[in-house]
Amino acid sequence: MGEWLEATVTEKICWNDSLFSLRFEAPLPAFKAGQFVRVGLDVDGERIARPYSLVNAPGETPHEILFNLVPEGPLSPRLARLEAGDTLFVHSSVTGTMTMARTPEHRRLWLFATGTALGPFLSMLKTEEPWQRAERVVLCHSVRHVSDRVYDDTIRELLKRHGNRLTFVPLVTREVVAGALRERIPAALASGDIERLAGIALRPEDAHVMLCGNSDMIEAVQQQLESRGLRRHRRREPGHITVEKYH
Ligand SMILES: Cc1cc2nc3c(=O)[nH]c(=O)nc-3n(C[C@H](O)[C@H](O)[C@H](O)COP(=O)(O)OP(=O)(O)OC[C@H]3O[C@@H](n4cnc5c(N)ncnc54)[C@H](O)[C@@H]3O)c2cc1C
Repeated sequence: MGEWLEATVTEKICWNDSLFSLRFEAPLPAFKAGQFVRVGLDVDGERIARPYSLVNAPGETPHEILFNLVPEGPLSPRLARLEAGDTLFVHSSVTGTMTMARTPEHRRLWLFATGTALGPFLSMLKTEEPWQRAERVVLCHSVRHVSDRVYDDTIRELLKRHGNRLTFVPLVTREVVAGALRERIPAALASGDIERLAGIALRPEDAHVMLCGNSDMIEAVQQQLESRGLRRHRRREPGHITVEKYH
């Protein structure tokens, strides 16, 4: 269902040599924060398309994706070469289940992202819904190098707006950076560092957890959480953990 729509790039942000955001205008239908869109380019007469989460909040324009260049990949290096004024294609069926509407009742929302998976969480946190539902939100973002950190301004703005209801836990795994944990998310959860920084416990009574990005992180964290009594959330079997794997 749905159709391909033509989109025009309005801006490219180069965070570093292999990390980019593309902003584009496209007549996409209404979507929910946390959802993704298929983005495509025509290469040798064939449309190559991949899913990308929207970083902009619903109603916010232009649309925006955050991605890293996978050198051997067929699409991401070509997306990285686009400039303002270029055309790309987006599919009209914006979709995905990692949304607040699909999330059961909770008082504490825990968001764990690796790399570019920060994007859908920013889209969500810019909306009112998480703040109407949760007393506290903990956003953990893991990157390898400090140069992979993105959207610091947006995070600062969210922290200003929501005060101590939001805790941001940056993790930089391959460099020593002031104010950041030098651990991967699974290790930082196992050591208790994340809960210590948040000042609250991650427990099944009041938590909902969203895991997005790298499958190794997702599987390792899910295993730990299951040993603490949390379980995958499914529509017919409500639980505590929502997952979206990028690769
Ligand atoms: C639901 C969903 C949402 C996604 N949203 C995003 C997003 O918002 N931003 C984003 O950067 N990517 C996202 N991805 C991954 C994205 O769709 C592409 O796979 C990625 O951009 C590489 O595309 P490619 O065509 O160049 O290479 P592909 O042929 O897709 O992949 C080549 C290789 O790179 C690996 N790979 C894929 N993505 C990454 C990555 N981000 N980092 C390192 N290795 C990777 C793949 O596992 C594969 O081994 C998402 C994937 C899914 C399933």
